[in-house]
Amino acid sequence: MQTIVTVQETAASQSFQPGRPAWVGNLLLDDTLERLERVVGATMRCPRCRRAGLETRPMYRPSSPDYRVVGVCPGCGFTAEI
Ligand SMILES: [Zn+2]
Repeated sequence: MQTIVTVQETAASQSFQPGRPAWVGNLLLDDTLERLERVVGATMRCPRCRRAGLETRPMYRPSSPDYRVVGVCPGCGFTAEI
């Protein structure tokens, strides 16, 4: 099973780090984007344990425009990019 630990290890091996790139602030206010991410995560259901609501963790790669958000199930730890 993919967990936040394995996702973070894979992301780190691809030079991703936690947080958001600076350019995101040029598109939307940071707190607006964070709220949007949380709303999306909150509406998702864990495909493994069926618990409603995933916690969101943003990641970015400083050397490129890559930005991703992963959802983490607080119940079983299932993790997937959203
Ligand atoms: Zn779960």
